[in-house]
Amino acid sequence: MSPSSSSRRRLAAGAIAATAALIAATVTAGTASAAPTGRDGAIAQARANVARNAAVFGFADGQDLVVKDVVLDADGTQHVRFDRTYLGLPVVGGDLVVHQDARGRLKDSSRAAAHDAAVRTIVPKVPAQLTAGRALAAAPGVGDAASTPELVVWAADGTPRLAWRTTVRGTGDHGQPAGRVIVTDATTGEQIEAYDSEHQAAGTGHSEYTGDITIDTTAQSGGGYALIDPLRGHTTKDAHNASAGTINANSGTLYTDADNVWGDGRKFSTDRATAAVDAHANTAWTYDYYKNTFNRSGIKNDGKGATVFVHVGTKWDNAQWSDSCFCMMTGDGDGVTDPEQVDLDTMGHEMTHGVTSATANLRYSGESGGLNEATSDIFGTMVEWYAGNAVDKGDYLFSDQSTPPWLRRFDKPSLDGGSADCWSRKVGQLDVHNSSGVGNHWFYLASEGSGARTVNGVAYNSPTCNGSTVTGIGNQKVAAVWYRALTVYMTSTTDYKGARTASLNAAKDLYGLNSTEYKAVAAAWSAVSVA
Ligand SMILES: [Zn+2]
Repeated sequence: MSPSSSSRRRLAAGAIAATAALIAATVTAGTASAAPTGRDGAIAQARANVARNAAVFGFADGQDLVVKDVVLDADGTQHVRFDRTYLGLPVVGGDLVVHQDARGRLKDSSRAAAHDAAVRTIVPKVPAQLTAGRALAAAPGVGDAASTPELVVWAADGTPRLAWRTTVRGTGDHGQPAGRVIVTDATTGEQIEAYDSEHQAAGTGHSEYTGDITIDTTAQSGGGYALIDPLRGHTTKDAHNASAGTINANSGTLYTDADNVWGDGRKFSTDRATAAVDAHANTAWTYDYYKNTFNRSGIKNDGKGATVFVHVGTKWDNAQWSDSCFCMMTGDGDGVTDPEQVDLDTMGHEMTHGVTSATANLRYSGESGGLNEATSDIFGTMVEWYAGNAVDKGDYLFSDQSTPPWLRRFDKPSLDGGSADCWSRKVGQLDVHNSSGVGNHWFYLASEGSGARTVNGVAYNSPTCNGSTVTGIGNQKVAAVWYRALTVYMTSTTDYKGARTASLNAAKDLYGLNSTEYKAVAAAWSAVSVA
C-alpha cells in the first residue's frame, strides 16, 4: 500500500471538514505538488520549523524529536506536539508544541517551562557523564523484577542532570497492580520527585463485539483521557494504516478523548476509536485471564504491558504479535465480510504468542509451529470463556466474531478445509495454522469429549481417530494442564509426541497419576493418533 492510498483512507475516515479546509488551503497556496499533506505533512513542516528556528526551541546537536500528537484545526492551523530526546535519552521537561498555519509557516510555539535553558546547558554534561565512566548511583530497584529503571535527562526544573526514572510496581489495596514513579539524581542518588504512576479512570466503551463495557483508561494531567491501562500497563494506539512491517513501539498515535466515552459500537465504523475499545478491553481480559488463572503478570510475567495497534495496514484481514516491538497489531478485516480483527479470542491468541515466546518458545515451523498456533487458539478461546460476555459467548470456534462464522474450529478442525484432525507423519509439513488442528482437536476432546454436543447454543460433533469414546473433564482443567506443559515442560523443538509427554507430566503434577484428569488427557491424545 502506498502512502497516498493510506492517507486517502484516513481522509475518508477522519475529520472531513478539517481535511477539506486543509486541502483547499494547500491547493490555493500552490505548494501541493509532491509534498506530504495532512498529518504527515504537518509533522514534516513542524520538524523543519524547529530546525530552522533552533534558538526559539532550544534545539541543539544531539537532540531529536518524537511526535506525540497532531491537532489539525478546521481553518487549517496545525499544532504538532513533540517529546524531545538527547542522545536517545528522553528529556523530561523538553516537550514542545509547534503551531503553524495551513501552509506550514511557524506561527507560535509552546514549550515545557524549564526546558529551554536546561536543554542547552545539559548538552556538554551528558556525554561527559556517560563516557568518563563516572560511577552513576544505582537506580532504585535495579535488579528487582518489579521495577523498570530508565535513564533520562531531567530538565524540568533546577540544574539539568542525568536521572533515573523508575516505575516501581507493587500491589494495591484491592490486589490490583499499583505503581509509583521515583526520579533520582543519577550521580548523587538524591530523590528529585516521586508520584503515583496511575491516575486510573473508568471509561465507557461502545465496543464492536462485546456491547457497552467499562474500560480502564488514564486521566491525563492536562485534561482528557488516554487509552493507557493503568492497571495492566497496556497502551492502545492508532497505526493510521501503516503496514505491520513498518511499525515499532513508537509508531502511531495514542488514543485520547475528552469525555472518556469511546467508540460507537459499530463494525466497519468510521469512528476510529471503536476498534480501539475492543482491542483495549480484550487485551485487558487476556491479561486478567493469565493473572487470575495462572498468576502470570503479563506476557513476560514481569508486570509490563504491551502496545496494541489498531487500524494496521489496508484491508489487512489479520492480526499479529511482534516480540521485537512487544506489540500486537490488528487489521481492519477485508472490508466486506470481516470487520476489525480485535475480538476476544483474536486478542487472546496474539498475546498468547508473546507468552509462548517468553516460555517454551516453540519454533514456528514443523510440528512445534503447529503446537505454537494451537496454544494461541486454545488460550484465545479460554479468554473468551473467561470473559463470560453476554454478546461474545465462550465457544470452540476461533475468530467467530471477526471472521464470521469462524476461521477455525476445535471439534473437527478439518471442517475449515485445511486443518488436520489426526496426527500423521506428514502433519509437520502443513502450514502451522493447519498442523495446529491436531492440538486443537485434542483440546476439544479432553474438554468436552467425543460425539455430538451443544454448548452455549453451538452444535459440535467431534470424531476420534482411533474409534474410541472420550469423556471430557472441562476446558478449565485442560487449559491448566496445557499452561503447565507450556511453561514447565515444553521446549522450542517439542513435537506432538513431546506435547503428549509434557501434558501428561503436567496432569500428573496437578491431579495425580491415577486421576480421571490424567487418564482423560492421555485418552484424548490417543484419540488424535498421538500415542
Ligand atoms: Zn497465530
